[in-house]
Amino acid sequence: MSFNDELVSRFEQMAQMLELTGANPFRVNAHARAARVIDDLTTDLESIAGDAKALIAIPGIGKGIAEKIGEYARTGAIGEHLDLLAQVPPGVVRMLEVPGLGPKKVGQLWKDLGVEDIEGLKRVIEDGSILGLARMGAKTVENIRASIAFLETSGTRLHIGIAMPIAEAIVDRMEGIKGVTRVAYAGSLRRGRETIGDIDILVTTSDPDGAREAFVAMEGVTEVLAKGASKSSVRLSLGEREHSRWGSDGGAGGVQVDLRVVPEASWGAALMYFSGSKEHNVRLRERAQKQGLTLNEYGLYPDDGQSEPPQKRGIKAKAGKTEESVYTALGLVWVPPEIREDRGELALAETPRLVEVGDIRAELHAHTTASDGSMSLEELVGEAKRRKFHTIAVTDHSKNSAQAGGLDEARLREQRAQIEALRETTTGIEILCGSEVDILGDGSLDFDDEVLAGLDVVVASAHVALGQEASKATARLIRAIENPFVHIIGHPTGRLVGRRKGLEPAMDEIIACALEHDVALEINAHWMRLDLRDTHVRAAVEAGATIAIDCDDHQTADFDNLRYGVLTGRRGWLTPELCINTWPKAKLHKWLRSRRG
Ligand SMILES: [Zn+2]
Ligand SMILES: [Zn+2]
Repeated sequence: MSFNDELVSRFEQMAQMLELTGANPFRVNAHARAARVIDDLTTDLESIAGDAKALIAIPGIGKGIAEKIGEYARTGAIGEHLDLLAQVPPGVVRMLEVPGLGPKKVGQLWKDLGVEDIEGLKRVIEDGSILGLARMGAKTVENIRASIAFLETSGTRLHIGIAMPIAEAIVDRMEGIKGVTRVAYAGSLRRGRETIGDIDILVTTSDPDGAREAFVAMEGVTEVLAKGASKSSVRLSLGEREHSRWGSDGGAGGVQVDLRVVPEASWGAALMYFSGSKEHNVRLRERAQKQGLTLNEYGLYPDDGQSEPPQKRGIKAKAGKTEESVYTALGLVWVPPEIREDRGELALAETPRLVEVGDIRAELHAHTTASDGSMSLEELVGEAKRRKFHTIAVTDHSKNSAQAGGLDEARLREQRAQIEALRETTTGIEILCGSEVDILGDGSLDFDDEVLAGLDVVVASAHVALGQEASKATARLIRAIENPFVHIIGHPTGRLVGRRKGLEPAMDEIIACALEHDVALEINAHWMRLDLRDTHVRAAVEAGATIAIDCDDHQTADFDNLRYGVLTGRRGWLTPELCINTWPKAKLHKWLRSRRG
């Protein structure tokens, strides 16, 4: 790990452990923010670690953090980090991964009941002693029990945000190998699913042995599982970073990667076969059969009733070199991989024009150092401009999110003045003054209507009481949508993929209400969120409701998550027309103003 990465992992751990030991929330946040800021830096801090002034000049790094960076450079350790490690057992930190168990409850379990790991937690649930804790009713305990089961069954799949960069690096590497003519990843990754079981790579090459050798010799391979003529499999370690950052959900044991060398003439058929989904492929094979054909990973062949596969008998394929050729031969239009889920895609009369990353022209949900972001206002605007957006919305947290440094009315006014000043010197991009206002437990908002009315854009999001029952969650979100000043409902359920279920409102009612009040529902592009999820997007699209795809940027690298939000949109059959971030500037701003009377 680089010096910066080592600091990131230490400050992240410190933030968690400080929270568990009941430290002041501002200290917790200072460490969490330092981790994000450092993670985003392009300069190596080791070179300036001795220069406190230079460190403090970095937004998001204060005096205390600067001292710790210096200490780490001098001694290779941070004293306070070691103290915390000695105080907090590692199993206690791991309990934070149980969906719904926040630091407060974990702290209680640890201090009041001596629970030091998940096994211990199961024991106090079984013997009922957990019920002796303050604010711990039978219902909460039932939720915790379900969460443990959820965690234990969802721990084996990788988040798309971890798998995608690995797959792309492998594709890059294989492209550089002599003889290789085509490389692609297939599987659920190509379909843009939120989690991935393993990574499938396909190649065509004039030198299959060379490709296989290069594949098993890749950096990070911990085990060669198979090395056969058509398929090689390896286990790849993910490196410290990927699983230290988000706990151990998925991939702690590495990820399996399969390489398949396929004949040039079978490229399209193989790509279809290994991209799936299984259900989609079953439908395709049924269709082929009805036409007297047989479809496999080598191509589409006439079905002559013989049991030996046609490709082995030298039968000429009717199609197979490209995906298009196979779909066309079956009398179908080419189907984008993201919607190959047997959800009606074979009835399409033409290939739908789904939203693409290049269509996105506006970012409507972003944070600065005013709340829990690591970018200054200027940096955020600069980054949005670099990404060629016509509009950037500044939507820091509101006061109820105190832990995240949420703004009260006075600070919001101050920020507006700063934004107005920045507008004077900024060209080429519109800067919107907004807020990510908390939706409180009862659906009321954290700011009064007069304050909201003064903002250019209002994203309303639920951050607390995410375990409330479905009917309450529905009523809560509906009340927020009905507020005349709200434009967008941010991460509508608050779920975290594989970690937290979040709210489970009646989504059809939420969608109907959003449509009626012309409020957009967000797809939060962070790969831990992807909320709305694909099926909800599909329901919204069918109803004709508008969708926002936002990165919820806290650091510059978060802008890169856009692709995951777009993939989720595509999985929900989202077209550019219904995605407000694709709208031309005039149309978007007219819509924003239309909710201002
Ligand atoms: Zn939020
Ligand atoms: Zn946010």
